[in-house]
Amino acid sequence: MVGFVPTMGALHEGHLSLVRRCVKDNDVCVVSVFVNPTQFNDKHDLETYPRTLEADCSLLESAGCDFVFAPSVEEMYPEPDTRVFDFGTVSRVMEGAKRPGHFNGVAQVVSKLFYIVEPDNAYFGEKDFQQIAVIRAMVKQLNLPVTINACPIVREADGLALSSRNTRLTPEQRQKAPLIARTLRESATFVPEKSVREVIDYVVNTINSDPVMRVEYYEIVDGNTLEAIENWSDTDYPVGCVTVYCGDVRLIDNIKY
Ligand code: AMP
Repeated sequence: MVGFVPTMGALHEGHLSLVRRCVKDNDVCVVSVFVNPTQFNDKHDLETYPRTLEADCSLLESAGCDFVFAPSVEEMYPEPDTRVFDFGTVSRVMEGAKRPGHFNGVAQVVSKLFYIVEPDNAYFGEKDFQQIAVIRAMVKQLNLPVTINACPIVREADGLALSSRNTRLTPEQRQKAPLIARTLRESATFVPEKSVREVIDYVVNTINSDPVMRVEYYEIVDGNTLEAIENWSDTDYPVGCVTVYCGDVRLIDNIKY
């Protein structure tokens, strides 16, 4: 069995948890490190994205990874990828609405990586909850023979979800960022007594009460379809997905209620 973990590098324990799981489940573990330009709709974000390939390779070696695939942009895109995907709701809501073209770029690069690596298993982190739904839809739509495995979010001791972008937080922002995970955790204690609307308002208002933070969206959705729910009884798999600007750093997190 060939297992595969696609990443954009600047690896941390979140990525390494996927790699360890991949090593455990498969005969061969392949990890790609590629900052994919087609999934960035913000040029500044692409330019400032951390790139640490040498350090990544030593982390991957100690985690038991067999092959690192770190292609150039020219190798991945010998000609422009003009494919336009439509996965319906899962790719249109939340990140799909806020970052036009993002998931199209993700589908472009992940499908190419799947064609190149030909994995039996691929591993994705639930930190990017919506991305997993998009990848599952893509694999179905393209009939790709790859099993998609979702892995839990790895967090710092103070609750902040690990992210390559955390290194861009100032010390003050870094100190405040755990408010996001703390608020999500607290909000779960109000379910199902408070309504969906009340829980949404609580999360948005609590995070926004810190002047360094600005919630871009907070939605509570069915974890499979990603349709927004109005009542807890609308689904047996409610998931809250949040995006917050901490200064100019865009952080995402989510919670299963
Ligand atoms: P990225 O390099 O940000 O594209 O992430 C590569 C993979 O690592 C994606 O499947 C992410 O969901 C996953 N990942 C990133 N951060 C975390 C985390 N804190 N916990 C679990 N998985 C993560």
